[in-house]
Amino acid sequence: MAHWRDALDGAVAEMPAGRAVRGRPTAGPGDRGDGVLDRVGTFQAGAPCPAVAMVADPDRFDERGAFREAVFTARREVALVALREAPAGMPAHEMVTSVLNTPDSLRRGVADWLRSLEPAAVAALRADAVSWVVDARALAARRGEPQWHEPRALAYTPRSLSTALTAQVDAVRTVRAGTAQDRTHLLVLRPRSSPADRRVAGRTALLWSLVRGQEPASVVLAMRATLERVRFAVDGEFLSTALGEAVADLGFAAQPGAAPRRVGPHCRYCRILGSCADGSAHLESLKERWAAPWDHIEVASGVDPTT
Ligand code: SF4
Repeated sequence: MAHWRDALDGAVAEMPAGRAVRGRPTAGPGDRGDGVLDRVGTFQAGAPCPAVAMVADPDRFDERGAFREAVFTARREVALVALREAPAGMPAHEMVTSVLNTPDSLRRGVADWLRSLEPAAVAALRADAVSWVVDARALAARRGEPQWHEPRALAYTPRSLSTALTAQVDAVRTVRAGTAQDRTHLLVLRPRSSPADRRVAGRTALLWSLVRGQEPASVVLAMRATLERVRFAVDGEFLSTALGEAVADLGFAAQPGAAPRRVGPHCRYCRILGSCADGSAHLESLKERWAAPWDHIEVASGVDPTT
């Protein structure tokens, strides 16, 4: 634990002046009141464009600054609590229903939100959580049930910073190795594979090392869209690379304006597109490229082109 904590704290201490944000500022909706995120997780590590990922989404927080739950934010918690608490072999639908009927087993914020829902919204949450459980069993329980991890994210706040690094782990499998140290394998469910898979796996391995004080043997990213598993072996070099990326992300979180803008198809759905010249220019160029061939098509007279 001490090795990776010392390495991270040392690297953070050497961040360029102006990047390292110290102390604990006033809390604000979604950030710390100064436009800086209070946690940098695997969402940021795996985002296609750091520039938008490092800006808090105001829609996720209410006027008091409290996090707004939604089906897509609560389903994993409901599913993991169901997997951890239900008797082996219980059908997914029954185990999820059991959790929804006893909200006290969930974190307080999720439980309060669940109690406030209309029946139709509870049904939507149930369907989503059941789907998560089915996928998790298909991907993580092929050789028997793993140890399902608690929903709470692993979190470590470097000394001298007030922004925490976080990562979620969904399942753990420990392989006994006789007299040698046990080997721990981590599994994280992801929607689908992306170019940032290695980065996400690295961040997960780093947080496990920082928080649990033990280097995992591997991180498996389990893709819900394809039911594929992508495995990353963990060694010192893998963790060093992850540490460098984590320090870079902490720097971008402290100065979101300095985070790189990476244009791509995701710009179409970007919530800060209106203030991003790069993204707007990219989409404009795509429009020109795709519009050109249709300019030469003549619509026959008498034909309504809109039908
Ligand atoms: S519009 Fe594109 S490049 Fe600009 S911040 Fe959004 S995702 Fe990034």
